[in-house]
Amino acid sequence: MSNKGYARPPIAIDGPAVSGKSSVGRSLASHIGYRFLDTGLMYRAATWNAIKNGVNVNDPIAVAEACERMDFAVSDGEIGDNQIVVNGENITNHLHAPVVDDAVSSVASVGRVREIMVAEQRRLANGGAIVMVGRDIGTVVIPEAPLKIYLTATVRTRANRRHRDFIAEGINIEFEDILRSMEQRDLIDSSRENSPLRPADDARIVDTDELTFGEVVNHLVELAKDIF
Ligand code: C5P
Repeated sequence: MSNKGYARPPIAIDGPAVSGKSSVGRSLASHIGYRFLDTGLMYRAATWNAIKNGVNVNDPIAVAEACERMDFAVSDGEIGDNQIVVNGENITNHLHAPVVDDAVSSVASVGRVREIMVAEQRRLANGGAIVMVGRDIGTVVIPEAPLKIYLTATVRTRANRRHRDFIAEGINIEFEDILRSMEQRDLIDSSRENSPLRPADDARIVDTDELTFGEVVNHLVELAKDIF
């Protein structure tokens, strides 16, 4: 692999919902001294903003207008995470609520929303030294990244992980409801016309079903050594 002109080239991580991208990406970034950007939070912020403003999330024109009016900023948090401020309010803690989970794929399929988010993601990626996670990072946002990872796991494994997270946060929700919502999100994300979820042709596919968190991170750290 070449570094394609960057001193510290960006790394793209894509994959379906709850494949571990965010926690693995964040840990990888901290191991190699990179910044981290979870692009899913940006689509979640657009969704939260639409819901808060009473916009019908299935109306693409209204969703696009709400996104254009949204003043938002993404910053690095103190623990290598990201914080999102929308219209002056830090909304990061609201972004994984089930109501956002259920509407986000619909919002993210609106072309104008994607244009706005991708432009900001490219601006943040400028200069390299960043691990960026999402659905279209290797295919659309930074296809020049010399290391592209596609993390995956079966939908049951991912729904189980999400269920455990909700229980730990004291949110009482049925496993079957999470499974259904995730299957629905996978279907919309991978079948949409605009930037569907899929591995880039040169992505390294990492199946995390049988791997521990630490094993996945170690594997990625080893892969990253090849691009420095
Ligand atoms: O990664 P996360 O599950 O937080 O992403 C939430 C949703 O945002 C995804 O289901 C997808 O619809 C959308 N998304 C996207 N492109 C990205 C990141 C997320 O369409 N790069």
